[in-house]
Amino acid sequence: MATGDGDDYSSIVAILASHTALCMRCFVKMTELSPDDVERLLRKIGEMFRIESTTAICDGCLAERTAYRLV
Ligand SMILES: [Zn+2]
Repeated sequence: MATGDGDDYSSIVAILASHTALCMRCFVKMTELSPDDVERLLRKIGEMFRIESTTAICDGCLAERTAYRLV
């Protein structure tokens, strides 16, 4: 069963918008997508919005690791 990319796209945008920074692990957990899909969508979203990937405290798991955020 395939979900449309549009739904995944907007849920990732919503997650980005409501968190200071979030790591890949938490994106995968929240979206239930594969890391590959999340990465692909983040790249796509990056064409519309500025996304920064940086070492930060993740909002979801509070670990310091590479996290993504909107700039
Ligand atoms: Zn996390």
